[in-house]
Amino acid sequence: MAGLMTARICADHFQNVVIVDPEIKKAGREFAKKRVAQYDSLHAYLTFMVDGLRRLWPNFDTMIKEAGGVVCPGTLPLHFGGIPILTPQLYSTTMFKSTAGLEKTCSLPDTILIRRPKLEALLYRLLIGSSANCIQTIQGTVTGLVPSDNMSTIQTVNVRTTEGEEKDMKNVSLVIDCTGAAQRGTRWLKSAGFIPSSTKPSPNIKGRAGTTSDLRVIYDHKLYYVTVTFDNIGDLVQDLPSPGGFGQGFIYTYYTHYKWGNNSFILARMDDTRIVQLCCGGWANTHLPKNSEDIISYVHSVKGAQPPQVWVIKAVEMLLESERRGDITMTFKPLKIPAASFVQYHKIAQSLPSNFIAIGDSVAQINPVFGQGCTKALYGATILNSILHNCVPAAELGRLPENFSTLYFERSHGTVEDLWRVLAAVSVTSTKALVKGESRTREGAVARWYSYYAYRAAETVRRSIVFCQDLLMQA
Ligand SMILES: Cc1cc2nc3c(=O)[nH]c(=O)nc-3n(C[C@H](O)[C@H](O)[C@H](O)COP(=O)(O)OP(=O)(O)OC[C@H]3O[C@@H](n4cnc5c(N)ncnc54)[C@H](O)[C@@H]3O)c2cc1C
Repeated sequence: MAGLMTARICADHFQNVVIVDPEIKKAGREFAKKRVAQYDSLHAYLTFMVDGLRRLWPNFDTMIKEAGGVVCPGTLPLHFGGIPILTPQLYSTTMFKSTAGLEKTCSLPDTILIRRPKLEALLYRLLIGSSANCIQTIQGTVTGLVPSDNMSTIQTVNVRTTEGEEKDMKNVSLVIDCTGAAQRGTRWLKSAGFIPSSTKPSPNIKGRAGTTSDLRVIYDHKLYYVTVTFDNIGDLVQDLPSPGGFGQGFIYTYYTHYKWGNNSFILARMDDTRIVQLCCGGWANTHLPKNSEDIISYVHSVKGAQPPQVWVIKAVEMLLESERRGDITMTFKPLKIPAASFVQYHKIAQSLPSNFIAIGDSVAQINPVFGQGCTKALYGATILNSILHNCVPAAELGRLPENFSTLYFERSHGTVEDLWRVLAAVSVTSTKALVKGESRTREGAVARWYSYYAYRAAETVRRSIVFCQDLLMQA
């Protein structure tokens, strides 16, 4: 995701943009990417993301519909521990920033309903549609970087194609790591001598010290997901129970607080009309469903102030029954969520080559429970865009300014770090492996206390509703 959005930005500023990816030849089609573990997991997209994609590609809405996706108001009918949280559009106007400026709406800003493989294929087609004249693709991986004599920049990028051919890309202006969870940038920089090779990942969530030994902080949130996808549901959708009809979008979200339990689930109708996804997520000693027989008992097992509503359980039962009869198909995708990992480039920005940056999960892989990952990637691309716009004089000389990398990491790290800290505070209660000096009752206690009472207040108090919606869709 980061690579595609960043390539679109770079196409506005550079004559040649080269994407190196081991599976690029299949891009533009829907397929399961080998290096992206969450490919089949349910994805929700924050409303910021839709706003950004529309700015990158003005034909985004037309193309997403052609691709079988749906644009709709960004809401997740949230049941906090089983208690329905009021939805803001019924009660208040929302301000949002569009291409036309600040607009007022009585509805919510848009989100999109589209499974991850479809969206990624669509973004590739949009990229080629808008920028084919300057995009070059190489099916392969980056194997190394060659520094300039004075170690101030990267001069050459070494690439190995999937056919085994070695290529040197000389005189590169900018190198952007978008390798996601692989976070390859650190390895490239170490082997080129920019970072001491003794630098080790550090289990230090606070990242107090400013040395390279704190470069990467990691913790295991012990989170597990199972995404169950029901396909070809056809006319069954008309019979599925739901107040107001089983429409398009997020149908029901049961989000539990750690005070109550460690299992949650979300039911959503994705893409056009054919797909319903049930995503079950839990932490620590959770017992997620392993097969279709376990699903109903899992849905009953979630704990909160109230049990899930009867119609939701009925809808899941009907989907399972239809699958047993062979009328619809079902796929089961269990996943242990990879550990959270934050490469704190901003702490060593002075030693980085001035033409290196990293965007998306290659900087920080975070707890996915609030659906912020793809927006974080877009955010990085946006920062890059604004810095490039302000660099025109240096770009005219054919090179980026000497402080380019420092500027990028200084401007982007605050938001990434905020996300990292909030998610660590959420995770520390029951999931995160504690590191020395941390306590489950102390770390993030204020944030957890505040969010608990804000949610409870939003059961009845209208002003709190917007706050909770912001937490979920725009956090
Ligand atoms: C279970 C789960 C659920 C999630 N749900 C959501 C959600 O609901 N909403 C949301 O916004 N985010 C969600 N996320 C997070 C989101 O998927 C990621 O934040 C997002 O994919 C990050 O994009 P990226 O481009 O940085 O990395 P990726 O999408 O992982 O892309 C990395 C790319 O790098 C390529 N690559 C890897 N290694 C190399 C190499 N050595 N050389 C060249 N190329 C390489 C890969 O082929 C791939 O194309 C979820 C994550 C998980 C784990």
